[in-house]
Amino acid sequence: MTIAFIDLAAQQARIRARLDSAIGEVLNQGRYIMGPQVAEFERQLAAFCGATHCLSCANGTDALQLALMALGVKAGDAVFVPAFTFASTAEVVPFLNATPVFVDCLPDTFNMDPESLKRAIVHAKSLGLNPACVIPVDLFGLPADYDSLVPIARENGMKVIGDSAQGFGAGYKGRITGAICDITTTSFFPAKPLGCYGDGGALFTDSDELKALIDSFRVHGKGSHKYQNERVGMNSRLDTLQAAILIEKLAIYADEIERRQAVAARYDAGLSNRFNTPYVPDGLKSVWAQYTLKTDSEAARDALRARAKDAGVPTEVYYPVPLHRQNAYKEFPVDPAGLPVSEDMSSRVVSLPMHPYLEREAQDRIIAAVIG
Ligand SMILES: *Cc1c(COP(=O)(O)O)cnc(C)c1O
Repeated sequence: MTIAFIDLAAQQARIRARLDSAIGEVLNQGRYIMGPQVAEFERQLAAFCGATHCLSCANGTDALQLALMALGVKAGDAVFVPAFTFASTAEVVPFLNATPVFVDCLPDTFNMDPESLKRAIVHAKSLGLNPACVIPVDLFGLPADYDSLVPIARENGMKVIGDSAQGFGAGYKGRITGAICDITTTSFFPAKPLGCYGDGGALFTDSDELKALIDSFRVHGKGSHKYQNERVGMNSRLDTLQAAILIEKLAIYADEIERRQAVAARYDAGLSNRFNTPYVPDGLKSVWAQYTLKTDSEAARDALRARAKDAGVPTEVYYPVPLHRQNAYKEFPVDPAGLPVSEDMSSRVVSLPMHPYLEREAQDRIIAAVIG
């Protein structure tokens, strides 16, 4: 029997009847764009994390782009992003004619290194760029080091966008991701911790002004009337069907986050004496989008993956090439000290199957296969 890397079917079986009736309700009501479920989902999502406003949109990449648009990021601006992340985090920056500047990560948490950010800011200024914004990522579901990063941003007059596509609902010293940064973005791509059955995304902010701008930008730069255009915007909305599905998924999300803790704890217990298991700093709680080990070398990683594959256990590498080494991004500035940790992590990390419904028996098999 092959084990699923992320088992969406187990979750669906749990709530299938409720999903069917929620979908049926949307079909009966026939309001496919901006139906009442969209506003209801936004209200529940804001309450979940303690943010004042939540605005849904078409996907997590659009959420990042809308955030930069609302902050007025433009040509000549530097936006500081990690190199060890999914492409979306950087992709939206050149799209708005601004310059992504790549920052290294910390070897223990995989998240943005505050010292590297400081060096990158000095470097960006020396290139004549205007430091505008920093986008820490809650990689693999663990919140970034906001208490260090936000003051550095403030000292340099910058805004902070939290890319919590992988980390929505994670805990940070008594707060929840979504209510920490000027704007937080997330994704409901099916495999994310809170996923829908298609594409979806959302933004969170406490600012009334940013909320109004994002609301306008996501619907063609609308004014008070939909055929009044105040600014050049986008078409980026969450479908009513996806909102209806997400309301049912959000209802079990807190329980799923707890189940993910139990799965991670069982991995830790079975693997920590043989491998470098994930580190969670005091006061933080991961939502475990990924459970990621550090092997000793690329060869050790290859061997682990081959062993696991033979035993029917899927593994993945997030991410095999850091963004500053990708063709699309290799011309952009980086921390002048280089990005050695991002490069090292790319060659040694490996992620194991992780989802809230991973049963003990399957997990024992995974642990045995990984140890070999
Ligand atoms: C998935 C992801 C995104 C983009 O989300 P989409 O909904 O796929 O556009 C952005 N940032 C990170 C870190 C992600 O993992």
